[in-house]
Amino acid sequence: MASEQCIALIAHDQKKDDMADFARQHSASLAKWRIVATGTTGGRVQDACPGLNVTRLKSGPLGGDQQIGAMIAQGEVQMLIFFVDPLTSMPHDVDVKALTRLATVYDIPMALNRATAEKLVDFQL
Ligand code: PGA
Repeated sequence: MASEQCIALIAHDQKKDDMADFARQHSASLAKWRIVATGTTGGRVQDACPGLNVTRLKSGPLGGDQQIGAMIAQGEVQMLIFFVDPLTSMPHDVDVKALTRLATVYDIPMALNRATAEKLVDFQL
């Protein structure tokens, strides 16, 4: 895998603890990627794994998810780990749909839950 390959990390609401734990557990694998994340998620991942180089974008509600969408469209993100919180409702729905659509259009691997992310994180592009 080329070192410039980029993975995007987003966790909604109560899934942020899960993302921090996931990052801690897989920090060696994540270290092989350039990492971008929405603001709060990125902060949690950086705190959990100080050795990782995490580029924090805007917080999701302020456009961070859409920044990641633009990066996917520009070919700058090769994998998306997106921990959606299914126990909250509509406010994030448009972001989930938009990123699902773009990951589908540009055919990049996308995990919407931890079980899938566990399978993808060691994936060789
Ligand atoms: P956050 O954004 O990581 O800044 O919370 C994610 C989101 O809520 O879409």
